[in-house]
Amino acid sequence: MKKVMLVGCGAYMDSGYGCPGEWRCLKAATLGEGNFTEPVQVMSFVKCQCPGRSVAANVGMAMKLADMKPDAIYLSSCLAKAKPACPYSSPEEFAQIIQGKAPGIPVILGTHEYHG
Ligand code: SF4
Repeated sequence: MKKVMLVGCGAYMDSGYGCPGEWRCLKAATLGEGNFTEPVQVMSFVKCQCPGRSVAANVGMAMKLADMKPDAIYLSSCLAKAKPACPYSSPEEFAQIIQGKAPGIPVILGTHEYHG
């Protein structure tokens, strides 16, 4: 089974409106729904913190401490598809920054399409 890392929007997660890292990404990963083409194992869940400058370092640290590299890194839907959007960076910019720390590992924009 493929291993993935999730990166969520910490500002949203800390505000706690019914998901905040509790289930949506994890359900989609478990069932292979949304942007997951098959069920996968979540090996780490990194929380972005405003203004996002530490996210690449934290992704690198998670891989180092776990002594494991994911097959793909997913930006959560609350990070990649938020309305209003992140005021600091676009999802594409986050993906580019993260790819600098994880060369060769694809970064996918968004995880699930659940509502409610
Ligand atoms: S920088 Fe953007 S994506 Fe990161 S926690 Fe803040 S609002 Fe969320």
